[in-house]
Amino acid sequence: MNYLPMVDPEIKDLIAKEEQRQKETLSFIPSENYASQAVLEALGSGLTNKYSEGYPNKRYYQGQKYIDAIESLCLERAKALFNVPFANVQPYSGSPANAAVYFGLLAPGDTIMGLSLKSGGHLTHGVPNITFSGKFFQSVQYDVGEDGFLHYDEIEKLALKHKPRMIIAGITHYPRQLDFERFAAIARKVDAFLLADISHIVSLIIAGVHPSPFVQAHVVTTTTHKTLRGPRGAIIMVTQKGLEKDPLMGEKINKAVFPGLQGGPHDQVTAAIAVALQEASKPQFKRYGLQIAKNAKALADSLLCCGLKLMSDGTDNHVMVVDLRQQNILGNTVAEGLEEAGIVANRNAVPFDPNPPFYPSGLRLGTPAATSRGLGLKEMKLIGGWIADIVCDLSRVKHEMGIVFDQEKKRETRSIIIGKTRKINEIRPKVAKLCRAFPLKKQY
Ligand SMILES: *Cc1c(COP(=O)(O)O)cnc(C)c1O
Repeated sequence: MNYLPMVDPEIKDLIAKEEQRQKETLSFIPSENYASQAVLEALGSGLTNKYSEGYPNKRYYQGQKYIDAIESLCLERAKALFNVPFANVQPYSGSPANAAVYFGLLAPGDTIMGLSLKSGGHLTHGVPNITFSGKFFQSVQYDVGEDGFLHYDEIEKLALKHKPRMIIAGITHYPRQLDFERFAAIARKVDAFLLADISHIVSLIIAGVHPSPFVQAHVVTTTTHKTLRGPRGAIIMVTQKGLEKDPLMGEKINKAVFPGLQGGPHDQVTAAIAVALQEASKPQFKRYGLQIAKNAKALADSLLCCGLKLMSDGTDNHVMVVDLRQQNILGNTVAEGLEEAGIVANRNAVPFDPNPPFYPSGLRLGTPAATSRGLGLKEMKLIGGWIADIVCDLSRVKHEMGIVFDQEKKRETRSIIIGKTRKINEIRPKVAKLCRAFPLKKQY
């Protein structure tokens, strides 16, 4: 019996439409994925009715028998999968997880050092002025070089100069592997905490196709809804090395999450994270992580073959950034054009981007979601060609026809894109066919 159509047909209709959109388009947004039916069922359960401030066996409310069992199981699974002595599964999402680590281990005004947004870091890694991480803490940001790669000697120099209390190693669009060993050596030199934020690369680490930070870092955070394919949430973990540095690190983090930053945990999410961890501990999940990386390489090769420029000229993880400066077209225009063809991606800054973040020079593409649908190397090659065709067609329309895409009037841009670009109309049915051939899965 479904009640939603009866109780709230308006919302039911919008949900149905969004689910249809997900079926009929290909997501190349690297932070998106498709949760299994089992994860969705845990999320949609009666657990949402419960209040359980505190931690298992230490709650401020009664009636916790089953909630305690669920959270304990989730914690055990996290500790077993990542081989760590401590975990906290209560953060509402990735940003509050990072906030809890900073507030738990640092004092306001301490210096943190993370990768800048333009170079592929996250907002919570110390972006100045507009984020809590840049307001409550002294923030030093490191960048990639002109070649699009991190240069660890430069990072070390910066660390020696500013003596951060915490170094953050984590990415949202940096398309290369992180050298956690080198980060740890730098952190050791300045006696800093090393936080590895593996939100984007957690599945690659599980699959063994990206170096693991679990030996080198003191603390590891990850979202659970990106490559881990679970519900929206996050996990904070303290490693053996972290406990050696400060035996109270786990307790400090627990206190920072609750009561420091949050109230009651989202128990339905905790249950769904437990389900996702169960799925991620299976051998097929390792194959999934491996395939994400293979697909990314195939997509990158295809784009490069078609003459597009990529940040750092390729990828060795799951993500790539197309640098559109040589086509002289903005990332938002290309993202809108691709959406018209059924390929959903996001605008993105490139390193040293002369343009503002909302009208940036790049396009970010990632393969985790498409890989969940079962798309493989052959499809990546095809799609890379389609994306390149659309980029070139938009660029041609802009330059040959002298049309300037009006950044402010989105509607107008859209009508130009639809009206003048032949390629998009050609590619749309091909994308639709691929979506039908690779439907969303209920189970992995
Ligand atoms: C996505 C992400 C976050 C934040 O997660 P939200 O759930 O969006 O708050 C933090 N760090 C990294 C590296 C991320 O990719």
